[in-house]
Amino acid sequence: MKEYLYPDVYVESILDLPLGKLYQYGIRAFIMDLDNTVTEWNSCEVRDEVVAWMQEVKDRGFKACIASNNGRERVVAVAEGLGIPFVSKAGKPRRRAFQRALQVMGSAADETAVIGDQIFTDILGGNRMGLFTILVVPINKREFIGTRVMRKFEIMVLRNIRKAIKQGDVNSLLND
Ligand SMILES: [Mg+2]
Repeated sequence: MKEYLYPDVYVESILDLPLGKLYQYGIRAFIMDLDNTVTEWNSCEVRDEVVAWMQEVKDRGFKACIASNNGRERVVAVAEGLGIPFVSKAGKPRRRAFQRALQVMGSAADETAVIGDQIFTDILGGNRMGLFTILVVPINKREFIGTRVMRKFEIMVLRNIRKAIKQGDVNSLLND
């Protein structure tokens, strides 16, 4: 059985994702976390590189949707800026959050990857739904207090993920 807390791939940033390889692997859609994956926590600023990356994602024929536990007002600005749909107050890691995103894109679970910086929401939820899961290093350390508490648990899981990378169970594309 696949370890529910382990991602399929671990990368430094969304910008490092091997889009060509993912497409070959059969991935056609991305469910993207917002805070600390696409932008800094609670910031609406999207870096130029991220805008360019999003365009490349679309040009290559992928669909994308933001799924965030944050509120609508916060999410809508970024989603509109990137020209992609969104699900706000998603309630990750609950299945419903991911089901709604799949529905919005008209995508099937087995062709969809979830991208996020949190093991206990993005990765756990994605694995339970049978999605391909991609963990990224959080953009910034400044974040919601509840998240900071979860990070302490994440550190323990990350240790095991590093072991799994050594054993070849997780595909690491981290530049270290
Ligand atoms: Mg996040």
